[in-house]
Amino acid sequence: MLKLFNSLSRQIEEFKPISPDQVGFYACGPTVYDYAHIGNLRTMILSDLIRRSLEYNGFAVTHIMNITDVGHLSGDQDFAEDKMEKSAKTPEDVMAIAEKFTQVFFDDLKALNILPADKYPKATHHIQEQVDLIGKLIEKGFAYESDEAVYFDVAKFPSYNQLTGQNLDDMLLGARQEVVRDPKKKNPIDFVLWFKAVGRYQNHIQRWPSPWGEGFPGWHIECSAMSAKYLGQPFDIHSGGVDLKFPHHTNEIAQSEAVSGVALAKYWIHGEFLLIDQGKMAKSEGNFLTLKSLVDKGFNPLAFRYLVLTSHYRSKLNFTWDSLTAAQNALNNLYSEVSTFDPNGKTIPEYEQKFNDAINNDLETPQALATAWDLLKSEHESADKLATLIEFDKILGLKIQETWENSHDVPDSVQKLVAEREQARKDKDFARSDELRKEIESQGYTLEDTLDGGKIKKKF
Ligand code: AMP
Ligand code: ZN
Repeated sequence: MLKLFNSLSRQIEEFKPISPDQVGFYACGPTVYDYAHIGNLRTMILSDLIRRSLEYNGFAVTHIMNITDVGHLSGDQDFAEDKMEKSAKTPEDVMAIAEKFTQVFFDDLKALNILPADKYPKATHHIQEQVDLIGKLIEKGFAYESDEAVYFDVAKFPSYNQLTGQNLDDMLLGARQEVVRDPKKKNPIDFVLWFKAVGRYQNHIQRWPSPWGEGFPGWHIECSAMSAKYLGQPFDIHSGGVDLKFPHHTNEIAQSEAVSGVALAKYWIHGEFLLIDQGKMAKSEGNFLTLKSLVDKGFNPLAFRYLVLTSHYRSKLNFTWDSLTAAQNALNNLYSEVSTFDPNGKTIPEYEQKFNDAINNDLETPQALATAWDLLKSEHESADKLATLIEFDKILGLKIQETWENSHDVPDSVQKLVAEREQARKDKDFARSDELRKEIESQGYTLEDTLDGGKIKKKF
């Protein structure tokens, strides 16, 4: 039985799908104006873990992840710089930037062995759906128009604070001080559904026609529109990083529930931050690392995945190069052991049970990894260990089977060197034999002399 911490109820709950046949899962995706940093990617690994855990428990999942390519402003101010337009001059520039970073994002996901979502809808491909939703909000009295924008009227939606649990008055009092204030905005906490291409945004590059004039959607409306389109409402699980609870998810809930009268999602899962030097990793802080920067230093991207698995998703994780090195070493040791295992074993129920218990207990990945290591150290047959680890890897995603297969797939060139060395040994030409061993090692293999001759092993 899968149990998950639901941010909405603020407790661990048993996961009960809305429909037993299909689980709907929506994960907020990246804003594609720059490289994703490894903090963003920690959150993407969380969405992968959620999806894999659902499938491990036998659920069929429809997994949707949006691509934000319009409307996400710097900070949470209404009238701030548009992230997508920072370095763009024409609509083509914006599209090229979005396209480039979407592709880089997909490459990152692949490198981290994150299973692809069923669909990656783009906000700019769903402008009509967003306009329709805003129209309905106005019709139902939840939104109003000023000269500059269309706003959601928070005072009309009393359960606005359901996700954060904050007192609504405190939220209103604490509402941010805007640099540019629209005089027709009723309440500082009201948020923008549609920006008109006037005033500060008169030169905004991305713009579409709407009943309220040309303009562009606010950031939050895309997720309400696209989740409804692809998953219906309510759907089962919505996830994102912890910073999205407010305002993004709070506003998504307000928009969607105001229109439909039913919940947006049943379970809300939020992942904690990846920190660097104990501070939040963020593009705005200028302290961010990309996956590529890790690879350039010689790390396997899966070492980062391993590192993420060593902490629980609701704990902060402070990134250091030492911790990444430790993760890489652990992963190499794992690979090295696995590569010696025999095939065709059976899974070991006792370990499977321990592993399931860890994962089903709100995705306790550190415990799940510890179980994998206990299994490695156990006295079981290597073939059974391998079969069990391959089963675990449906969740861990560390490419255990692939590694085992590759380590047994010794290239012809290396096989030839091994044969030549056997011959040199038979001929008692030890100098040549040593030379050949070095050559084999330089190709990434080690040679162990056994009674049956040289045994070749891939180096990790
Ligand atoms: P963005 O590309 O800014 O829209 O963010 C994509 C995802 O990354 C969101 O779910 C954020 O909550 C998440 N995120 C941003 N910074 C961090 C961080 N330092 N650690 C973990 N997740 C983060
Ligand atoms: Zn979203």
